[in-house]
Order: sequence, then C-alpha cells, then structure tokens
Amino acid sequence: MRRISVFGATGSIGQNTLDLVRRAPQDYDVVALTGAQNIAQLASDAKALRAEVAVTSDEARLPELRDALAGSGVEAAAGDAALIEAAARPADWVMSAIVGAAGLAPGLEAIKHGTTLALANKESLVTAGPLLMAQAAQHGCTILPVDSEHSAVFQALIGEDMAAVERIIITASGGAFRDHPIEDLANVSVAQASCHPNWDMGQRITIDSASMFNKAMELIETKEFFGVSPSQIETIVHPESMIHALVGFNDGALMAHVGPPDMRHAIGFALHWPDRTHLPVERLDLAKIGQFNFRAPEADRYPALAIAARVMEEGGLTGAVFNAAKEQALDEFIAGRCRFTDMAQAVDRVVDAMLSREGLQNATITLDSVGQADAMARALTVEHIAKTKG
Ligand code: NAD
Ligand code: MG
Repeated sequence: MRRISVFGATGSIGQNTLDLVRRAPQDYDVVALTGAQNIAQLASDAKALRAEVAVTSDEARLPELRDALAGSGVEAAAGDAALIEAAARPADWVMSAIVGAAGLAPGLEAIKHGTTLALANKESLVTAGPLLMAQAAQHGCTILPVDSEHSAVFQALIGEDMAAVERIIITASGGAFRDHPIEDLANVSVAQASCHPNWDMGQRITIDSASMFNKAMELIETKEFFGVSPSQIETIVHPESMIHALVGFNDGALMAHVGPPDMRHAIGFALHWPDRTHLPVERLDLAKIGQFNFRAPEADRYPALAIAARVMEEGGLTGAVFNAAKEQALDEFIAGRCRFTDMAQAVDRVVDAMLSREGLQNATITLDSVGQADAMARALTVEHIAKTKG
C-alpha cells in the first residue's frame, strides 16, 4: 500500500489522478485530498477513497465540509494552515495540482518530508524554482514533472547524459486563436478563449494556452527543472498536440515523446515511476493520423514568449513577478475588466517596472520574498489595467 495525497483533488489534474487511483484502490492508502469551492466533489471523493483528511482552502466552507463528511470518519479541515498540516502528513507520493501560486507552500511542505512530489503546479517552478529544487535536494525528495511537455522531456532523458543535451523543444498547440486574425485578438471573448482545440483542462490554463502564457510558463519550468540555459529551449507550434516535447542531443538525434493528449499519461507515469504500467489512454493509430504539422510561433500573436525569454534571462524573483502579474491579468480578463491582448501588455509593463527596482534579479528566493513580490506585482497589474481603461 502506498500512502498518497492529492492537492487540488477537485480540479482537472486532481480528478484525472483520482480516476487512476480508483482503478486500483487496493494499492493506495489515501492520506489527504484538498479542494477549494467544490465541497460536494471533495467530500464524495474523500468518503469513497476513505481519505484520512479532506481540506478546503476556504475557511468559510468548513461547516459545509464537516456536514458533508459527518459520520464518515474522514476529518474535515480548512484554510492555508490546514493545507500545510495536510502536506506534513507522512506520504509516499504527493500530487501538487492546486492551480496558481497557492500551490507553492503546500508543495514545499511536502518536499520537506521527503515524499515523491508529482508536480503539476507549474507556478511552483516559475515563482520559486531554485528554492524548490534546492529543498528537494536537501530533503532527498524526488520531483516528477506532470506537465505533459516536461514529463515527455523527463522520459526522453531516461538513461541519457545531460551533458549530451543540446536543446529541448517544447511543443505548443497554438491554443484557441492559432488561426484567428491577429488584428481581431483584442475583441475575443472569455468563452472563446476558454475552448482548447485538443486538451480538456481547467479554465485558467486553457485561457493561458490561447495567450501562450501557459507555454511561457513551461519554458521557465524547463529551465528551472532541467537546469538548461534559456538559449537551449525552443518552442514549436504543433497543432495536433501528439508530440509533447523533443530533446536534441549533440549527435544530432532528436528524441520525441508521442502520445494522445490525455493528462492521465503524464500523471500515470509519475504515479508508477520508476515502473511503467498499463494506462487507460488511447493508443495512437499513426496511419489514421497521417501527418504531424509544425510551424514557428508568431511573435506578434504570442507576445508572452518574449516576456518569458526575458524572465529566464533575469532570474531571481522575476518569475514570481511574472506569474503574479499573469494571474492577476487573467483575473481581470475573466472579470471583463480588460481585453485579451491587454493581458500581455500589462504583464510586460509590470515586469519592466519591477525590474527597474533594485535587487529583483539577485534577491534570495524564500516563501516570504516570493509572497512580497507576488503581492506587489498583483497590485501593479490592477493599477496598470485600471489606468489603461480609464
Ligand atoms: P483546476 O482549476 O481544474 O483545479 C485547480 C484545483 O486547485 C482545484 O482542486 C481547486 O479547488 C484548487 N484551488 C483553486 N484555488 C485554490 C487556492 N487558492 N488554494 C488551494 N486550492 C485551490 O486546475 P487544473 O487544470 O487541474 O490545473 C492544476 C495545476 O496543474 C495548474 O498549476 C496547471 O497549470 C497545471 N497543469 C494542468 C494541466 C491540465 O491538463 N489541466 C496540464 C499541465 C499542468
Ligand atoms: Mg503543458
């Protein structure tokens, strides 16, 4: 029996993780499941999987969670401290799948307890990559990337020497607007941006795919996780989303990871690592697919990519600023307070403004310094967007 916890259990990654767990419940002892607003889902999964504890991040929803769990033997808890407490409970494998910067603290706590951390929460690496990797090394924790591209790179690197790696190519579907007239991008709606051509994911990451802020995050993630330099990381638009990433070696070979766009592959790989086990994902019929297409990403369609290049060059707390500005700009877009194209402009300005302040690049990355940079960047983003509108 392996003791496992799933942070962000009610989300898209969380539910896909539980789908795999439910197929072999006898193999797992579920410690903690966490969620935010979907109390009914959280309670029902916690009861069905006999979790030790269910945690909602929203303290106001605790009475509801308690009621839903009454008589089940599952503990109910709420709030940020409860999330940390749950992350400190001994577990062999922890899924970090909270969305946003909120995923950092529970992930770091789990790392301190030496667990194997399956990392879907890309914001952790973007905001605090050096801290996360150093803590993992210090506490003997293995981090397994769950983002499909990074799982693909990880798999292509098995048995390889990093010194022989020339480049890492991250593929991008191009998102909802890959063929949309660029001059009309300012007018697209939230509903249009929330439809992904290939992947079924949470709303925030889907909109981030349309703007390629998601890819921008993934480039930074690649630098932080694999320790390569920004100049070794490339992006290619691949509309079919079947090749998830490629690794180029010094002998000219490219190792590609090919599979259906189904997150249960990357999640299942991390769940069973270092073994491979049968997974319930579609088997590709290459003859039926016929062809794979590639094109270079257009800089004016996807300004987020240039911002990511700058964030990688500057380092330090620039990633925390970038992520917070991006999260805030996304909130503003979803709430109808700014246009789709205003998001990249706001993030660019905020990164710019904060880089002109001393010390951002060389600051020590701690939970506190990340939190401060995050708060400042969010406030500046709100200010910038309000000013642009006014
Ligand atoms: P989602 O929105 O579907 O789910 C997010 C989860 O986080 C939910 O359980 C929600 O209750 C919880 N949550 C939200 N706000 C919270 C807060 N403030 N505190 C604590 N918990 C909170 O998101 P998702 O698509 O499953 O993505 C989760 C993470 O995985 C993100 O970092 C995303 O970038 C990454 N990721 C997702 C996919 C995918 O296919 N969905 C692929 C690669 C990486
Ligand atoms: Mg991805």
